[in-house]
Amino acid sequence: MENEIILEGNKIKYKFFKRNVKYARLEFRSGELFVITPFWYKNVDYLLKKKSKWIINKINKLKDITKNSLQKKLIFRDYNKWKEVVYKIANQYSKELNLYYKNIYFKTMTGKWGSCSYKGNITINNNLQYLPLNLLRYILYHEILHLKIKKHNKFFFEILNRKFKDVKKIEKELFEYWFAVRNNI
Ligand SMILES: [Zn+2]
Repeated sequence: MENEIILEGNKIKYKFFKRNVKYARLEFRSGELFVITPFWYKNVDYLLKKKSKWIINKINKLKDITKNSLQKKLIFRDYNKWKEVVYKIANQYSKELNLYYKNIYFKTMTGKWGSCSYKGNITINNNLQYLPLNLLRYILYHEILHLKIKKHNKFFFEILNRKFKDVKKIEKELFEYWFAVRNNI
C-alpha cells in the first residue's frame, strides 16, 4: 500500500505491508522505502518518526546516487560476445578460488545483478552487459565466492577486499548503474 508521511518537513512516500514477522522493520529496496510490520502492530507513524534521521539520510544518499546515475553511460555490446567474456572471466576466477560452478544462467532480473544457488549454479543479470567490465568482474568474483561462503560475513568481505581495492566504490557504482539501466533500457 502506498502511503505518505511528513518527516522534518519532507514528504516521504513509503509502502506498507503487514506480514507474519516478529518485529517491525524499515528497508530500502531499489530506492523505495518499505515498512513491514507484524499484523498486530499499530504505531507506524511513531516508528517512522523515531527513525526519521536514518530515513532522511538514506533518501539524501539516494538522491545523490540518482543524480550520479545520469552521468553513467551504458555500453552496447554484442550480446553473445559479451556472454563469452562472462564465461572467460568466470572460469578464470573459478581456477583462482578453486571453486567451481555447475552452470551459469543468464536472466533479466529486477532485483539483483547476480545470484548463486545452493546447487552451485550462478545467475547473471543480462543488464550487466551494459556495464564496464570491472563491475562485471566484481559480480562474478562475488558470486563464485558465494559457492563457498553463502553469507555476506566478515570472512566473505575479507576475501573480496583482498581482490578488489575499493569495494565500497564499486558497490556505489553498481547502484548508480542500476538506476542508469532502469532509466535507459
Ligand atoms: Zn552476495
